[in-house]
Amino acid sequence: MSTAPLPTRRPTARWDDRRVPFPAEVVAAYRDAGLWGTRTLADEFHEAAAQHPDRDAVVAAEGRLSYRELDRRADLVGAGLAALGLTPGDPVLVQVTNRLETVVAWYALLKAGLVPVATLAAHRGHEIAHISRAVGARAHLVEHGTRGTDLVAFAVEQAEGHPSLEHVLVLGAPADADLPAHAVRLDDLGADVDPDEARSRVAAIQRGIDPDDVAVFQLSGGTTGVPKLIPRQHAEYWYNARAYADVLGWTADDRVGHLIPVIHNAGITCGVHAAHTVGACLVLTGHELDTAMPLLVAERTTSVLFGHVHYRAVDHPDFPALAEHLRIVVLSGAKVSEELFAAVGARGAWVGQLFGMAEGLFLVTPRDGSAELRRTTVGTPVSPADEAVVLAPGTDEPVPDGEVGELCARGPYTLRGYYAAEDRNAGGSQSAFTPGGFYRTGDLAAVRVIDGHRAISIEGRIKDLINRGGEKINAEEVELLLLAHPHLVEVALVAMPDPRLGERGCAYVVTDGTPVTLDDVRAHLRRLGVATFKWPERLEPVAALARTRVGKLDKKAMAGEITEKLRAEGAL
Ligand code: AMP
Repeated sequence: MSTAPLPTRRPTARWDDRRVPFPAEVVAAYRDAGLWGTRTLADEFHEAAAQHPDRDAVVAAEGRLSYRELDRRADLVGAGLAALGLTPGDPVLVQVTNRLETVVAWYALLKAGLVPVATLAAHRGHEIAHISRAVGARAHLVEHGTRGTDLVAFAVEQAEGHPSLEHVLVLGAPADADLPAHAVRLDDLGADVDPDEARSRVAAIQRGIDPDDVAVFQLSGGTTGVPKLIPRQHAEYWYNARAYADVLGWTADDRVGHLIPVIHNAGITCGVHAAHTVGACLVLTGHELDTAMPLLVAERTTSVLFGHVHYRAVDHPDFPALAEHLRIVVLSGAKVSEELFAAVGARGAWVGQLFGMAEGLFLVTPRDGSAELRRTTVGTPVSPADEAVVLAPGTDEPVPDGEVGELCARGPYTLRGYYAAEDRNAGGSQSAFTPGGFYRTGDLAAVRVIDGHRAISIEGRIKDLINRGGEKINAEEVELLLLAHPHLVEVALVAMPDPRLGERGCAYVVTDGTPVTLDDVRAHLRRLGVATFKWPERLEPVAALARTRVGKLDKKAMAGEITEKLRAEGAL
């Protein structure tokens, strides 16, 4: 008989020391109410596959997979990942785009009990070095053949001298691709494993995982410094998706279009998981409308989420054909004009809005909401157990209905603390939480009572972010990087309006007298390995930065000035 001691900790419990769990009585209440399930994400998908084996689970430009096929394929790759020596709880950086194999990889990682860390394909050394060390990443999944940067070479470079990164996993590489020595093609993993054997290996791994363990790390846009890590747990994360699908009334007959980055929280929750909670099909496209629209039309998409960059889909020549099958259109990311609302719904589709965040809270306009409610607000929380309140900024005091304050939330899928960020968690010096555990979103909002619904309208934000077509740029992070330039003395990154992306970054700078151009600044950020989407897109050299009477930076004044300039230049 073996004398080895029984393990005292679950494999994925390694995160427990530096995360903030939901209080035990709250967990019990969510379970008793039937909100949280008892399965892991991988087991939830396996169960969905058992119920809908022959339906399409995902369709993309590369092909389609039924639920049975996707489940089997992910079992094999999952077993292959385990055979590499990756063990449950190991974090894996994910840097891939919207393609069929991305969905296989997502479930395969989960089936192997690994913890995907949802970075962006656009991230570079500055971001990846920080994130991978913060979680102690053991593997890095990248896509082969991406335009511009060679992500495989990038991953190999990142692994050099890294304390924990041992494996480079490559998605989408042809069989004869010339890969670096220790890079592994995802397609080769599990190729030699019998499907039943793969299933039983995956099932054994899943049995060791608690449904309230960390399943995934999403990244926060953040308000200070580099991105914060958001630990998402199995049961609450699946519930988030189920609640979204339920509010929209999706069924297994729905075909759900998704154009924005799928590894983002919105992609995983609204696209992959939500579709699979009801047995629906995910129609996954890239972000270019000219390639996305024909696929959405051919697949008879019934429901689609358009982020701000895709609001112009309504003007695309394929939109009338798409609208023939569209039942539901969800708009998200920026205010919706009357013209847009009318044009999207002109052929009878229900048009509504979503406000969501990787930290949790989802607001969606209710199905029975009037047109006024659906156009002017982002609606109500998707769960009956959500608590969304509008507080006077920096206080615990609710503001009266109709008045603007900070949107704060607590509920069955909203985080209780960032990972390893004691300062930002309750009680910390820069806490993002109220003493009662409500997450302070940093967004400005007001409660509007319309037709008996207490709906929320978004009125701006307190946090110092630039929302560039859905990608969040943390102003402080970029300012600190710019200050490392030898000739920049003072900097302020402000949001300038952009008709297509919503906002872009404009840097107000004070130099030491040596002229500095936009190209200089961008070359500097390239040298530092900063993702391109964060680079300022305009430079405004000034003698001194605008300040308020008490001497604080006046970003509002700078943003107002640059808006006026753009208007005068005819750019708006
Ligand atoms: P992320 O975590 O990247 O999904 O970003 C969440 C943030 O995006 C929110 O805190 C808001 O600042 C912004 N956001 C999300 N949805 C909307 C919306 N419908 N309208 C305006 N801003 C939004």
